[in-house]
Amino acid sequence: MQILFTAFEADPFMKTGGLADVAGSMPAAVKALDGPEEADIRVMLPKYSGIPGEYQEKMEFLSYFYVDLSWRHEYCGIFSLEHKGVTYYFLDSEKYFNRNQLYGDNDDCERMAFFSKACLEACLHLDGFDPDIIHCNDWHTALIPVYLREFYRETSLKKAKTIFTIHNLKFQGIYDPYVIGDTLGLHNTPADAQLRQWRDYSCCANFMLGACTYADWITTVSPSYAEEICTPYYGEGLDWLFNMRRDSLSGILNGIDYDVWNPATDPYLGSDAAKELGYTNYGPRGMKKKLENKLALQKELGLKQDKEIPMFAIISRLTEQKGLDLVTYLLPHIAQSEMQLVVLGIGDGHFEEAFSWYAHQYPEKISAQIKFDNALSHKLYAAADVMLIPSRFEPCGLTQLIAMKYASLPLVRETGGLKDTVNSSNGFSFLTFNADDMKYSLDCALDIWYNNRTEWLSKQKQAVSADYSWSSSAKAYKELYQHLLS
Ligand code: ADP
Repeated sequence: MQILFTAFEADPFMKTGGLADVAGSMPAAVKALDGPEEADIRVMLPKYSGIPGEYQEKMEFLSYFYVDLSWRHEYCGIFSLEHKGVTYYFLDSEKYFNRNQLYGDNDDCERMAFFSKACLEACLHLDGFDPDIIHCNDWHTALIPVYLREFYRETSLKKAKTIFTIHNLKFQGIYDPYVIGDTLGLHNTPADAQLRQWRDYSCCANFMLGACTYADWITTVSPSYAEEICTPYYGEGLDWLFNMRRDSLSGILNGIDYDVWNPATDPYLGSDAAKELGYTNYGPRGMKKKLENKLALQKELGLKQDKEIPMFAIISRLTEQKGLDLVTYLLPHIAQSEMQLVVLGIGDGHFEEAFSWYAHQYPEKISAQIKFDNALSHKLYAAADVMLIPSRFEPCGLTQLIAMKYASLPLVRETGGLKDTVNSSNGFSFLTFNADDMKYSLDCALDIWYNNRTEWLSKQKQAVSADYSWSSSAKAYKELYQHLLS
């Protein structure tokens, strides 16, 4: 069984969010599974110029070819690298991938179309690798099932099945329909009509609509989110399609990589430099040691050093999706409560400014770290007592899974993957997207912290004992691959 896993980012090569965590861990976990049928799963990524030099140096050049996109004829090289037992292919294009940022450029539409077509074309140039399944992820690779159907059915890929995984339905790849001909090269093909959608009284071209129409199977990253996207509230204009495709739609919860996220071995806590600052590794029963991390972080961030005061944390993109308007609404209440808040994130200006302003007003209680900082995130998971994740919607969410491993109790809104993983025995939750309901949960957490330490410890015990490693999710993906090929 040969599987090609395609994504636009994967840890440790390039990362902006949870997709990178998944693409960096899931293929290795699937490959490691025992069983009569081995899964030869390989990953294809853009050879983005921001990939750290240590990996770029080890890459081996394999071949090159040209990709036709409408009137364009573009060079594409293939490099490969073995990492954690998995073969990674990197598609090289100076024109499209020699950039400082992964997303947000004016030619994103063209770059994603190029990458999607190049993934298929590359399969024709790889000796001994003819994927039975092509697993695509998010809108960046959404055109793969479309191009496969339109242009590659007479090639060695004629039997390949496709899976499309939705990590975030908010970003669908929506453009003026003009691009269908001029950029995507799909003018006058059947896909021309399938990609078109009426939204807000005008016609657009929608990449994800194409993927969800043509893919053999659609998955989301949690069972609850698979249900939710069939409703108009969560469906982002595609709920009608998910309802039609209910028989080939399922949710498989993401896992996390416990080699990376483990407070007992985490080098960001246990290295000599970290130890000097007061950080320390701790195991599932080391809750006293966990408090030392809080003291160390309080010192590092200039907060009042006190292990008795509960530290709440946010590690997130600062966007509407993450429900931060509820938190900013509650900032006056937070500032008056016996708690600390540390925010680590970048994103929308108004959130960055609100958190920074409050941090400036209450320097001993609130800290706003407006940046993307992996090292600090590890320390904060270890130091925090509560992780706030009041998302408006959450396809899976990794933050709550990591937080639980570090015995930081998640306080979440009951939606998507948060609903599937957090409950009253391992954290705190509220249902309605409403700041008063969140305030009630937050006050409950404070009450339990100050007045019922036994219950707090019992929640921590439940949280750390949950197994959200990749093993069960990898098994579910492998079963799905086998099901599609049966
Ligand atoms: P998303 O919707 O952004 O994919 P997830 O919860 O699935 O959200 O994954 C977020 C991942 O990104 C987690 O590993 C989290 O620790 C990390 N992360 C988010 N913001 C930051 C930041 N500012 N600094 C470091 N890591 C971050």
